Amino acid sequence: MPTEETGRPGRAPDCLSCAYFRVTWDAGFPRACDVFGIKSRNLPAYEVFAATGRHCPAYERKLVAERPRPEGGADPSAEAEGGIWA
Ligand code: SF4
Repeated sequence: MPTEETGRPGRAPDCLSCAYFRVTWDAGFPRACDVFGIKSRNLPAYEVFAATGRHCPAYERKLVAERPRPEGGADPSAEAEGGIWA
């Protein structure tokens, strides 16, 4: 059954691409979720599922800034096509 939050059937959302995920300085509990206020060894979505039996409903895709193109620099897509010398 597809979930409304992820659009994927029966899968926990990907905390690593979520805006509320963060890494802590606590070596014992290196992963945290700002929505649920939890720090854990596992990804927070696994902890949410273990505690509630439901997948996390709060996933929100993290916005990633586009890398600015250097002025007069090489086209970054050229590297993907075999490099600037190809
Ligand atoms: S809101 Fe959900 S998907 Fe996002 S970090 Fe927390 S548990 Fe993971």
